[in-house]
Amino acid sequence: MSKPVRIAFLGGLGEIGRNCMAVEQDKKILLIDCGLMFPKAEHGDDIDVIIPDFTWLLERKDRIVGCVATHGHEDHVGALQYLLQDASFPLYGSALTLGLARNRIAEARLTDKTKFIEVNDNDRIKIGPFDVEFIPVTHSVPCAHAIALHTAQGVIVHSGDFKIDLTPVDHRRTDLARLGSLSSNEGIRLLMLDSTNAGERGHAPSESEVGAVLRGIFNEHRGKRIITASFASHIHRVQQIADAAIDSGRVVVPLGRSMINNIRLARDLKVLTIPEKSLVSADSLGKYDDHEICIISTGSQGEAMSALTNLAKGDSRYVKVGESDVVIFSSHAIPGNEHNVNKVIDALLRRGATVVHSGIADVHATGHAQAEDLKTYLNVTEPQWFVPIHGEYRHMVANAELAKIMGVAPRNVLLCEDGDLIEITDGGIDFSGRIPAEFVVPQKSQRAGKKSKDKQTKKHKKR
Ligand SMILES: [Zn+2]
Ligand SMILES: [Zn+2]
Repeated sequence: MSKPVRIAFLGGLGEIGRNCMAVEQDKKILLIDCGLMFPKAEHGDDIDVIIPDFTWLLERKDRIVGCVATHGHEDHVGALQYLLQDASFPLYGSALTLGLARNRIAEARLTDKTKFIEVNDNDRIKIGPFDVEFIPVTHSVPCAHAIALHTAQGVIVHSGDFKIDLTPVDHRRTDLARLGSLSSNEGIRLLMLDSTNAGERGHAPSESEVGAVLRGIFNEHRGKRIITASFASHIHRVQQIADAAIDSGRVVVPLGRSMINNIRLARDLKVLTIPEKSLVSADSLGKYDDHEICIISTGSQGEAMSALTNLAKGDSRYVKVGESDVVIFSSHAIPGNEHNVNKVIDALLRRGATVVHSGIADVHATGHAQAEDLKTYLNVTEPQWFVPIHGEYRHMVANAELAKIMGVAPRNVLLCEDGDLIEITDGGIDFSGRIPAEFVVPQKSQRAGKKSKDKQTKKHKKR
């Protein structure tokens, strides 16, 4: 009899966001991701973030040997600054993942509660009793990883967020060869697979296709100023925008705090290439004509406090938007944000700007594998057991169906939700209990990073 392995799902199963799970072996716990979720309208206006319920975890906090971060998106690392207020453990990830995670942890003045331990592609390291392998994957943030845990109960693969992009901007592809070798040598006991786009048929388009579309738009509007909006962590998108800008004789002007910070971080880590002479700060904009300027802004989701929303409202001290502007939303509105994005688009149009968005041109590509990509992944990994993760319930059901189509025995496909506890033994995998998993809203004082004595958090019923 080999030792059992347990997995607790703290978030991300039944919603997009707050991804967090705990793997337990030999009474030690390894966390995989610790993310936050941005609320939807139904959660109320006064809420700006939702985090996992850490009750179960904090009762066992002395057993936590570390947290492995698959990538630097906030729905994967954004809740660390809350958990680290009450616990202390090292954080493992790529240099970029750690750099993105560090920002928020530093803002909360909690860097002394963790150690940032950098890993490289295909590293295999021991964390407590866990034997952890970092497998490169392509996603909408560079330097992302899938995680393979070599446990007493066989190999457990956590896909992380990924896409299968054969022509990614940095040529760093999802390492299907390594996954295949794990499958054919050790065998994959359990696969936990990203469900975000399981309900989308076909293949996800390559990120590099977006670059070609952007160049076309830049060519079409040679005489005008161009303003783009995208996620600040989407470094490959920023790279393609910058390349199109420089090729059409423009300088690149980052706008918005996270865009400025992330461009600096990514250039330092050499995952973004923009020559010094082409990078100009917003207060030097006056030195250039409109057709020599490309602004790269935050605010692609219509966020109230963002740089682009400021421009649309006419509140920016650097830029007055007008008829000589072309605004490109190189993004896709996350469900729940459509209304805010549309409000910003309306305001820009009222000012006379031309607006291009993903409904008009292919200025965005998803970062998540679609149905045929997931089938490819399942074909390569051939898991014995399957748990769909990361998605609303319908996404996870769609992913479960794909696993069955690809030959996983139907009884070996487990549809889990937040709060479920599963146990892996020689005999198989089964549900073994429930843990608290309500939506938790941190108090404002906690968000500001101050350690308040009365740290009551509000809890909301999930359903
Ligand atoms: Zn995610
Ligand atoms: Zn992601």
